[in-house]
Formats: sequence, C-alpha cells, structure tokens
Amino acid sequence: MAAPLRRLRADNPGPFTFDGTVSYILGHSDRVILDPGPNVDDHVRALVRGVAGAARVRIVLTHGHPDHAGGVDALVRALEEAGSAPSDIVGAGHPDARPLSADEAVVFDAGRLVAVPTPGHTRDHLAWWWPERGGLFTGDHVLGHGDTTWVAEYPGCVADYLASLERVRRLEPLVVHPGHGPDLDDPPEAFDRFEAHRRQRIEQVRACRRREPGIAGDALYRRVYGDRVPAGLEGAARRSLAAVAEYVDTVPE
Ligand SMILES: [Zn+2]
Repeated sequence: MAAPLRRLRADNPGPFTFDGTVSYILGHSDRVILDPGPNVDDHVRALVRGVAGAARVRIVLTHGHPDHAGGVDALVRALEEAGSAPSDIVGAGHPDARPLSADEAVVFDAGRLVAVPTPGHTRDHLAWWWPERGGLFTGDHVLGHGDTTWVAEYPGCVADYLASLERVRRLEPLVVHPGHGPDLDDPPEAFDRFEAHRRQRIEQVRACRRREPGIAGDALYRRVYGDRVPAGLEGAARRSLAAVAEYVDTVPE
C-alpha cells in the first residue's frame, strides 16, 4: 500500500519560495494532489508519476499564486494524457476550482481535508486540515523557515493574517506541512513566531508615529528597515510596510 503522504519539491528556488514549492500527494488509491506548484515540466511529470495507478485523482489548492497553482493546467493535460484525468479541482485561485466554505471537506481514502479560510497572504487563501493525522497544510500562510510571509496584497490583509493565525492555532495541529520549507513539528511555536514578527512591525510603526506623527512612505520605510533589506526584496518590504501602516491607521491600539 502506498504511503498516504508524500512531498515533492519543485525546482523553483527564489527569495519567496526558499528551495522551491512543496506539492503534496495524499491518499492510497483515491489521491489528492495538494498545490501542483509552478508550471515546471519536471515537476509536473513527477506529480503524474506520483499518482500513477490511482483509482481517482483530485487537485486541491491553497491559493492562486503561480508558484502554487501555475502548474494546474499543464498537470491536468498531462494527467489526461496518462489516462488519470482529475475528477475535481477544489479550493482557491484557479478559474476551474470549486470553492469550499469553512469546514467543508474533501473526503479521500486516508481521511478528510477540511477547508480552513486563512486570508491574509491572499484574500481567498485556504489552509487544509487533515484531522485524521493532526496535519495542517498551510500553503503560504505559515512557512517552514523564518518568521514572515508576504502579507501586503489587499486592504485589511494584516488584520486578516493575524485572525487567520488565531484560527489555525485553535485547531491544535500536531504538524504543519507548509508550501515552502520543511515540516514544522512544533506548530504553536511557529504560529507564535510568525505572529511576533508581524506584531513587532506593527509596534515599530506605532513607535515611529508617536515620535513623528503622520510619518509614512519612504521616510517610514527608512526608519523601520534602514538598510537591512536583502537585495531583491525592497519592493516587497515597502509594500509589506504600507500594509502594516494601513493596519495601524485602521485598528486602534
Ligand atoms: Zn503565495
């Protein structure tokens, strides 16, 4: 009997993807591919091989960013050619995906995958909870390295992000399977670490505003980051900080 959980890492390393996007294959014969990852030939082929012989294949998505969902169309075509076309695409971020509401589940032959709305990284981001194993697939909400993820995409994203951390904490998972980086076997510590980073930024902005009321934009960026931003991440840091400033402007202390 095949193991009910496999991880397959795509070869798309980068500042936002660490050593690459992790796709997961769940189930014995009734199989789920969770986040097909980027449109990279070798990776798509590895996923097709990973579900060879399955009685049923479904695709489940955390969100639509290209490093997670960019390979969906190529994967569907390759699965069709291999005679194992997916019966369903479920989740957020692809035009053919069937959205699930909170607590709805994909039932497969090693348990259930329960949809956990976790907005913040994107507005429609979903984590997937595997209660039979105590595993939580967090996509880009909580990553396997560091203490931060991209939270800058829409107004209200920082408040959403913090509320989503609270929501996943309440599930009390035993292990986090992130979209990038290794599994996390101390989820409460990881949730605290990601929350502490975001709250530290919020506190930095509040402190700047107390000293210099109205400080924003470039001046605020230089106060908070100085020259500590790694090359290639400045644009992201600026947008992240603008999102934190928007949070500070709208959420009372
Ligand atoms: Zn993403």
